[in-house]
Amino acid sequence: MIEETIFSKIIRKELPSTLLYQDELVTAFRDINPQRPTHVLIVPNRHIPTVDDVTVEDEAALGRMFSVARKIARDEGIDEGGYRLIINCGEHGRQEVAHIHMHLLGGKDVGPMLSRES
Ligand code: 5GP
Repeated sequence: MIEETIFSKIIRKELPSTLLYQDELVTAFRDINPQRPTHVLIVPNRHIPTVDDVTVEDEAALGRMFSVARKIARDEGIDEGGYRLIINCGEHGRQEVAHIHMHLLGGKDVGPMLSRES
């Protein structure tokens, strides 16, 4: 079995977090090291390590992540200004925690999408 990460323990409330939302498919909590005024992580409750491990059975949870992102953006008052959703995958994507997570970032201009190579 692929090893769980700290996020599974947060989902099961065995570890503390600032929980913003939870239902039968997904959980959302504040990032421990926020990079913008709003920085929330939205994760599937089922342990899916990376986007590269996604199957059709995960489609409901992955879709729910977007609708929950929209709800939290409204709750946080960042919907009108806009925000960025990021999902890192694997080594080149610089994914640090091997449990799929969507970053919701906003509250001010989040800056360019990538550092330019030229
Ligand atoms: P990644 O680089 O994998 O896309 O992002 C991992 C994110 O998880 C980072 O933004 C990091 O600050 C956050 N993170 C790591 N450990 C914890 C934790 O124990 N609690 C919370 N709330 N966030 C965490």
